[in-house]
Amino acid sequence: MSTNIKQQRPDKGNLSTLSFSTQAVHGGNVADATTGAVRTPIVMANSYLLPEDPSTMDWSSPDGLTYTRNAGHNQVCLEKKLAAMEHGEEAAVFATGVAALHAIFFTFLKSGDHVVLGDVTYEAVWRLFAELLPERYGIEATFVDMGDLAAVQAAMRANTKLVHTETIANPTTKVADIEAVAEIAHRGGAMLSVDATFTPAPMYRAAEHGADFVVHSLTKYINGHGDAMGGAVIGRSALIRELKHNAIVDLGGTISPFNAWLIMRGSVTLPLRFERQLSSAKKVAAFLDSDSRVAYVTFPGLASHPQHEVAVRQFGGTDFGAMMAFAVEGSPDVQNRFVANLRVITSAVSLGHDETLIVHVGGDGRGGAEKYPAEFQKYGHLRLSIGLEDPDDLIADISAALDATFAK
Ligand SMILES: *Cc1c(COP(=O)(O)O)cnc(C)c1O
Repeated sequence: MSTNIKQQRPDKGNLSTLSFSTQAVHGGNVADATTGAVRTPIVMANSYLLPEDPSTMDWSSPDGLTYTRNAGHNQVCLEKKLAAMEHGEEAAVFATGVAALHAIFFTFLKSGDHVVLGDVTYEAVWRLFAELLPERYGIEATFVDMGDLAAVQAAMRANTKLVHTETIANPTTKVADIEAVAEIAHRGGAMLSVDATFTPAPMYRAAEHGADFVVHSLTKYINGHGDAMGGAVIGRSALIRELKHNAIVDLGGTISPFNAWLIMRGSVTLPLRFERQLSSAKKVAAFLDSDSRVAYVTFPGLASHPQHEVAVRQFGGTDFGAMMAFAVEGSPDVQNRFVANLRVITSAVSLGHDETLIVHVGGDGRGGAEKYPAEFQKYGHLRLSIGLEDPDDLIADISAALDATFAK
């Protein structure tokens, strides 16, 4: 072992006082005490050295480093960073976004409880509350239009324990007014969990607007490179501790040290990447909106979007995320032909990557097409996640694919 270690790296100070870009670079990073390496190494151990007398230890504790399912060095570093970036007290990280969501449901719901959730919601969440949790565990759920606050209020019951929504919903881009929904939830004695995967900080921080839990699929924007999966829940310490105790220690779903490390690295450039994606999305949406061969485009930044005013107020007026849905004029076959004609844009699921992704989702959403707007039902829809390519190349790709699709 070489012995060139000069000193411990100075503490970066209170992370929460630093600005977002600085947190993205330094948050959670711990220089290696053994080698002096300036970046946190990947610690591929499943267990850590025990204290001299381990016989009185609590084996179910998520505190300290004992067993990597409960807590590991790379996971803990990533949790510190995410809590700072989202302005939350604490974070818990998981193997996937769905594991993070399920951790909330498993920890805070029991038989006989009722949940109010958005009618447009991530597929796995839809199935959990439409089928698995009611049928097997007696948890009741009401799906409501989160754009209709009166409907949210009307859905509340005495046994409503949780309201769950997405800031911008996957895939229709329906926008929820988080402060208003939080008020309804709290007045009814329920907690609010917000899936903020489409709106990472600094665009929006739901924890500052009444959310008790902020959920991210780290697989998406926060990692941002399409090469790792992960999920996180951010919230007040007492709640996150309860969640870790129950859902990490006794349910598993632990992220691997390698994936936690990849996400730490990917998230360093989140501020730069997302800024580019936000600005390109506006250009691409405007182009789609202007082309008569495009049947419709749904993007919260367009005045035609049903919750455009909520989006302007909630997200500050200039940024609207980098996700949109649209369809070209014609049948599902025409949608497929259009996608096949794209050269730069990749046909694949997932979102928030460096490369622009498109997926033909179709018109008949799970749980009934009626939850989708009429134009979605008529044409189906293409979900588009804007990446880091030059926006002019994306527009040229779409334009050429439209020409090829509609050539006589
Ligand atoms: C992808 C996604 C999830 C699930 O995350 P995974 O990492 O794929 O498990 C949850 N919510 C939203 C809004 C998503 O887009």
